[in-house]
Amino acid sequence: MATSAFLRAANQPPPLERYDLFSQDRALVDAVRREGAAEREDECAAFGRACGGEPLELGRLANEHPPRLRAFDRFGERIDEVEFHPAWHELLRLGVEAGLHAAPWSDHADGAHVSRAARFMLLAQAEAGVGCPLSMTYAAVPALRLDDELTATWEPSLVGRTYEPGLRPIAEKAGALVGMSLTEREGGSDVRRNETRAEPLADGGYALTGEKWFCSAPMCDGFLVLAQAPAGLTCFVLPRVLADGTRNGFHIRRLKDKLGNRSNASAEIELRDAWAERLGEEGRGIATIIEMVVHTRLDCALGSTALMRRAVAEATHHAAHRVAFGRALAEQPLHLNVLADLCLDSEAATMTAIRLARAVEDGDDAFRRLATTVSKYAICKTTPVLVGEALECIGGNGYVEESVLPRLFRESPLNSLWEGAGNVNALDLWRAVTREPESVEALLAEIGLAQGGDARLDAAVTRLESELADDADREYRARRVAELAAICLQASLLVRHAPHAVADAYCATRLGTAGGKAYGTLPRDVDCAAIVERHRPRLEE
Ligand SMILES: Cc1cc2nc3c(=O)[nH]c(=O)nc-3n(C[C@H](O)[C@H](O)[C@H](O)COP(=O)(O)OP(=O)(O)OC[C@H]3O[C@@H](n4cnc5c(N)ncnc54)[C@H](O)[C@@H]3O)c2cc1C
Repeated sequence: MATSAFLRAANQPPPLERYDLFSQDRALVDAVRREGAAEREDECAAFGRACGGEPLELGRLANEHPPRLRAFDRFGERIDEVEFHPAWHELLRLGVEAGLHAAPWSDHADGAHVSRAARFMLLAQAEAGVGCPLSMTYAAVPALRLDDELTATWEPSLVGRTYEPGLRPIAEKAGALVGMSLTEREGGSDVRRNETRAEPLADGGYALTGEKWFCSAPMCDGFLVLAQAPAGLTCFVLPRVLADGTRNGFHIRRLKDKLGNRSNASAEIELRDAWAERLGEEGRGIATIIEMVVHTRLDCALGSTALMRRAVAEATHHAAHRVAFGRALAEQPLHLNVLADLCLDSEAATMTAIRLARAVEDGDDAFRRLATTVSKYAICKTTPVLVGEALECIGGNGYVEESVLPRLFRESPLNSLWEGAGNVNALDLWRAVTREPESVEALLAEIGLAQGGDARLDAAVTRLESELADDADREYRARRVAELAAICLQASLLVRHAPHAVADAYCATRLGTAGGKAYGTLPRDVDCAAIVERHRPRLEE
């Protein structure tokens, strides 16, 4: 073990830094190869090395120095700008230059979306907040493509790899980012309650007036916004700066004081006759924005998977170096049981998230729609529990800010809330069953590829099929069925592609009855040491 005499004396592990976040994640490397991005492995490894260096420290700085609102300039004029620490800009620059925002939509080489997904997970391990504008920009492109003119105006700057902060007209920017502002005080899940009004203008645009209660990354160059037009709830594209260089009627009231995600700004905003262009038909706002939401749901799954991976990396690394009662923690049977149990969920989420990115790559919309929704639900629900347990694996130091676990823990509930809170995501399952039966067939077909590989999975699929066919008390049962669907998909991927020890332990505990409520309750015959060794990152010599 490469610890110095001093560190050995203090019985403290060396800090987990200056290593390749990609190559040291076997589950991720395997998934990237399998899902069609083997040719891009070097790109992922280079980015993994980059993220395992300075960005780890930049992530700390960006969170310890959160953004501040600058509502007015020194002459008392409204400017509605947000001031970020330089570390935030460096991290966002890293993401944009790596093409983690919208670049894959203009990259026609194989594996663009899969490589982007893997690298998004690597950056999110260094700092999760910048994922918000990167993700919204990624997701906006397929929605904007409904309209040729808006695509011509926005897409060139959205897919460009130049990070260009600062508010200027879109035509003058080589690189731009976009956000999404739906939620109002009246309702976030039920956006039909939106009260923001959209009045048609003579120039073909609309004037938007109202309040938005949550608007993250308000420094973005444009926003997809929902508002009530004469024919009903409609989607709009709203630029921060108008073509003539004047600021649009977009005013920031205050920034939210959030539990986590502190590097990123989330604002309450007021729209006053803000000029916007319609995207999609009047009255079809929800149908239009859903294209964006499905892609941000993918990034919620990727982001939560990344949090779990960072937590597992820290916990397994710590256990290899910390001694208690005369043995390394990694040699203590009960601690190994806990660690291996954590690794199972991390590996299952990694495989699933990268498989979902492959579905974007392949244009496999039927599979993507439902599989993304149920996986986002299940992965994001697992994350806070896993991160909390990983924190405990590090002992008292895990509860201390410098260990990074507190930041991961504060971040961990967010992806479940975003893009459809847990219940709303789970309920979407029934929407798919009723309106997109082909997405249920596609999900069952993918799960069925493992048929005969594990009897517990086969039995669970039979249960899932009968749950899906049961019309009674659908709303009440939505979480149970969404969870079962997601676990069946994860198990199917593991049975087909993971080491036997991983797949067997997962099926025994997540589908069978061998596990307990807390982590560390794996049955006796599991090869915990092999599982933990697969997931433990090694520091470079
Ligand atoms: C940090 C942060 C950043 C955000 N950034 C943005 C942003 O950039 N843009 C944006 O538009 N929004 C943003 N949001 C808002 C977020 O999308 C909403 O908070 C979320 O959609 C939930 O809406 P709500 O807060 O109105 O809660 P509600 O809709 O009131 O939901 C409250 C609870 O009720 C449950 N619920 C709702 N309907 C049902 C139902 N039919 N059946 C069963 N249960 C139900 C929900 O699951 C939830 O648990 C952000 C939120 C946070 C925390």
